[in-house]
Amino acid sequence: MRKPLVAGNWKMNKTVAEARDLVNMMKSPLGELTGVEKVLCPPYIALMTVASMLEGTDIGLGAQDMHWEEKGAFTGEVAPNMVKEFCKYVIIGHSERRAYFGETDETVNRKLSTAIKFGLTPIVCVGETLDQYESGLTEEVVRRQIKAGLAGIDSANAAKIVVAYEPVWAIGTGKASSGENANTVHQKVIRPALSELFGVDGAEAIRILYGGSVTASNASEFFSYADIDGALVGGASLKPDEFVAITKAAFRP
Ligand code: PEP
Repeated sequence: MRKPLVAGNWKMNKTVAEARDLVNMMKSPLGELTGVEKVLCPPYIALMTVASMLEGTDIGLGAQDMHWEEKGAFTGEVAPNMVKEFCKYVIIGHSERRAYFGETDETVNRKLSTAIKFGLTPIVCVGETLDQYESGLTEEVVRRQIKAGLAGIDSANAAKIVVAYEPVWAIGTGKASSGENANTVHQKVIRPALSELFGVDGAEAIRILYGGSVTASNASEFFSYADIDGALVGGASLKPDEFVAITKAAFRP
């Protein structure tokens, strides 16, 4: 059985001092929730502080991105071993990186290979834009993102990958997808594309999260579907009570 995973993507929010306050509010209620993998993804600058605060807990830490090169003249970038120093997870290919910072399926693929090489657990984001959704292109776009983004990865490493289906029209808009729609994309588009890459068993082992305006009130709808293995949460991950409630809802007895 795939263990549910709930990750909070803080995006470009919280100073180090604010991050400390947020972690202090969430740490013990989150720590009490067993059976769900919990991950916090603060901005880079807060990673060191949050890492030391999470020591001795089962709450994981993730970066929001990283470069595929191991070191060198890439001003402003963060290398995989810098991420690895503090984190177990790394988000790759978030739609905001694709839309505003030129991330492509090719760069996603490079970053994914590097993340695996460094023993990180990549959370690879895919999802269609509103235009693509309205033009009936969801299947084509998401399938391409999976096939190209995850190409060339050895099947032995497949289970280390986490995929997050995040329809762009649902991110930060308050207009979440329905659970049924997300589950259909997971079941009919993403898992079959993963099967083509890694075989049926390989694909079955990969967790597929839903992301896009998940809140404490709609979380259990998503988690009631067998193919939705958790959530990548943006806005609601900055609200301790909401994030804890979402995590609680992901538990599968
Ligand atoms: C995200 O940024 O990954 C996300 C899902 O954001 P939100 O929950 O705010 O829609």
